[in-house]
Amino acid sequence: MVTAVSVDVLIVGGGIAGLWTLARLKQAGYKTVLLEAESLGAGQTRFAQGIIHGGTKYALTGKLTASSEAVADMPALWRDCYNGRGPLDLTKATLLSNAHYLWSTSSLTSRVSGFFASKVMRARTSELDESVRPSLFKHADFKGQIYALDEPVFDAMSVLKAIAEPVKESILAIKGGSLKYDNDVLSVQGQDGQSYEFDFKKIVLTAGQGNENLLSELGLKQPEMQLRPLKMVMLRGGLSDMVFAHCMGGSVNPRITITSNRNEQGDVVWYLGGQLAEDGVDRSDAEQIEQAKLELAELIPWLDQSKSQWATLDINRAEIKKAGTKRPDTFFVEQQDKVITAWPTKMALSPVMAEQVVELINNEKLSRVDAAELPSWSIPSYASLPWNEEQRWLM
Ligand SMILES: Cc1cc2nc3c(=O)[nH]c(=O)nc-3n(C[C@H](O)[C@H](O)[C@H](O)COP(=O)(O)OP(=O)(O)OC[C@H]3O[C@@H](n4cnc5c(N)ncnc54)[C@H](O)[C@@H]3O)c2cc1C
Repeated sequence: MVTAVSVDVLIVGGGIAGLWTLARLKQAGYKTVLLEAESLGAGQTRFAQGIIHGGTKYALTGKLTASSEAVADMPALWRDCYNGRGPLDLTKATLLSNAHYLWSTSSLTSRVSGFFASKVMRARTSELDESVRPSLFKHADFKGQIYALDEPVFDAMSVLKAIAEPVKESILAIKGGSLKYDNDVLSVQGQDGQSYEFDFKKIVLTAGQGNENLLSELGLKQPEMQLRPLKMVMLRGGLSDMVFAHCMGGSVNPRITITSNRNEQGDVVWYLGGQLAEDGVDRSDAEQIEQAKLELAELIPWLDQSKSQWATLDINRAEIKKAGTKRPDTFFVEQQDKVITAWPTKMALSPVMAEQVVELINNEKLSRVDAAELPSWSIPSYASLPWNEEQRWLM
């Protein structure tokens, strides 16, 4: 038996971008359903470090770049949501740290010194003296400078859950590869074995890396996607400090970016990204772990690594294609007839990406479908967190 469902908007992909869009479209009164082929957050979102960038790290050249402008308002917007005053209610999300920090070692390059002294930095950051530094940087062997950035850090999956829970009846768990588009109708198989046929006024693709296949199923060749691979590193054992900090090297990219989480046993796990993860894609797992040990030994020489256990994690960022290997400055949204394709580029930019999708749909002045109730169907579970997956821990 096939169940026919009419909606105003169908969304495909239940990461942060799709869920934020679903919640905002429902607030605006659209009958909206989101389809997820695995589990909520299963793509990039569960791997995100959760930093709500305000653009400071992109301003390393000493002047504001397009990337730093695009994200400048995001910390305030996310804090409003967390305090119950924003477009979505994130009061149930977990704020891991109210600030992200930026530190330099004593061997600063002149470029980095210029950056710290620049007007942009002075306006957005404050240098911390010892009494207010995070505890890791109170150590006598710390010789560099440390700044607090106005950039909150959220547990990305807790944000996802805070958004999804109130709207979960509108989310259908489908079988991967079951989606077919024919004669303006989208057919899928639910994970419960049921078949569904959706007709819709608009379809929004927020499937991250999955957007490419979806576009092709819908008969479209554009927009083109690019993948930026990363090899992240995790570290646990003997850690007491929750650390949220970039270490600046000599380039625009932080040499290393550390965020922290607690695993199911309550132990602190450090999650390492930045240049280490970008360069690491050409290394084997063992080589990447070796490199991470060397980096930490050089940047935090007082850290005792004797009890450390290590894991690596390969993951692609999916975003709009830019010429060469350039990164997009901001989120991407494009409409072609009934199809809207979107990539937030950063979790931090999902709210403004979703606002643009809602605006495009509002501008169409759609005649709304009737508000008949949705069938009760299988709702996807939440994706697991990488630091809780024992099989990843190598050595
Ligand atoms: C290691 C790493 C660290 C990051 N750190 C940060 C950070 O600190 N701050 C920040 O702002 N951003 C960060 N980002 C970027 C951020 O994670 C992404 O921009 C964001 O999560 C993308 O969300 P999304 O919803 O577009 O895609 P995804 O999270 O990838 O979600 C796509 C969803 O679509 C589903 N899907 C795919 N194909 C189909 C299909 N055919 N049918 C149905 N469903 C489908 C997938 O299962 C998945 O659930 C980081 C990214 C990575 C990889």
